[in-house]
Amino acid sequence: MFDTLIRKARIIDGSGAPAYLADIGIKDGVIVAIADALDDQATDVIDAKGLWLAPGFIDVHTHDDLNVIHNPHMLEKISQGVTTVIVGNCGISASPAVLAGDPPDPLNLLGDQAAFCYPRFSQYAEAVAQASPSVNVGALVGHTAIRNNHMDDLQRSATTTELEAMCSDLRGALKDGALGMSSGLAYGSAKQSSTDEVIALVKELGAAEAVYTTHLRTEFDGIVEAMNEAFLTARSGKVPLVISHLKCAGKGNWGRSGELLQHLEQAALSQHVACDCYPYAASSSTLDLAQVTDETAIFITWSEPHGEQAERYLADIANDWKVSLMDAARRLMPAGAVYYCMSEDDVENIVSYPKSMIGSDGLPNDPHPHPRLWGAFPRVLGHYCREKGALSLPMAVHKMTGLSAGEFRLHNRGLIREGYCADLVLFDAERVIDSATFIKPRQAAEGIEKVWVNGVLSYQPGATQTGRAGQFLYRQS
Ligand SMILES: [Zn+2]
Repeated sequence: MFDTLIRKARIIDGSGAPAYLADIGIKDGVIVAIADALDDQATDVIDAKGLWLAPGFIDVHTHDDLNVIHNPHMLEKISQGVTTVIVGNCGISASPAVLAGDPPDPLNLLGDQAAFCYPRFSQYAEAVAQASPSVNVGALVGHTAIRNNHMDDLQRSATTTELEAMCSDLRGALKDGALGMSSGLAYGSAKQSSTDEVIALVKELGAAEAVYTTHLRTEFDGIVEAMNEAFLTARSGKVPLVISHLKCAGKGNWGRSGELLQHLEQAALSQHVACDCYPYAASSSTLDLAQVTDETAIFITWSEPHGEQAERYLADIANDWKVSLMDAARRLMPAGAVYYCMSEDDVENIVSYPKSMIGSDGLPNDPHPHPRLWGAFPRVLGHYCREKGALSLPMAVHKMTGLSAGEFRLHNRGLIREGYCADLVLFDAERVIDSATFIKPRQAAEGIEKVWVNGVLSYQPGATQTGRAGQFLYRQS
């Protein structure tokens, strides 16, 4: 007797292998049977004829650290078929963190000072478990967060004493189950950290068999040198590397995706490297003066001193104020922005590259978020896969599931196999598409029919209630 029996779905198992027709039996949150035809009884029997069943999508690049606690339904993710989020990316993490004042940029993407109330990683993990979000949560420790714990000035490299204290924070978090560490070296609050500072921390990861993810020191002209720094750092710590949201940013950089992917392939001959990406030609983060340009459009999503200018283009604001773009940006800060800084061809190249995982990089606290928050995964399946034919469906699913679970070392997830956790998404490959747009970003995707997390039905379109069966995923060796 199963809890759930899913009949006659086309199974895309997450390994990259072609789809096959089968029945799937779920019991106590686990896939217990896969066969041509199962005739066992079940509490729930789902007729999945004509639909596709995949492992639940793993959003490897999120800033959902506090959202999974404060907004545990996680509708923006579960409605995409996402069943696991990795939080703590780009050097930004909710724990272990102690803030003496307002969070420095970009930690402010997560919330205000009061929101940072987890000095120890174990407290954060317990808070997530208590909140019981609808998705599983794995967490990285943010390099900038632990810098901020011990440094009175982030515009320099850490001293030996500070670095030892940061290493101690990291060791504690790793012992308590953190998956690894992320850095955000392009941000002002980490830019002055030396490569040696980061290497010292990454060596702690090596000892714990954890991963290192990095928002490169630059994604603009100097990106190859920034990739080289990341390769060296990961090699020094003997850890697998994930380059975050790989992109060719800035008009001068357009057309270089082939060169960057070639460079990644070259490095992959001698060390373990991967990357993640989101399927859009615009980026989004806090407003950064270093990225202010008149070459491509910049859309302001929020501004602390000038909330009335939100949802307007920076160029229009500057025009109204009769000041330069740079002066307008200075007046708006702290603020959030969408930067139309990439070319479609580069995005398609990187999205379809076999070693790139899909991650949304969605910003849940942004009052006018980049549409990737609600649309990244269905957009890959609908737009890049079905409409553009840039990659096959099994490969696209692999880059959201099996590949991701492997890179982040999530045990018994990311594949449809007997004995694996029953994180599953039932979707219509002929209809699936993102609905969220830059104008109307908060829209659930089309074609995601049912989502199970640890065997619990957690989403179906139109249903008001979602299941809340997500678990905290501790690092396992
Ligand atoms: Zn980033």
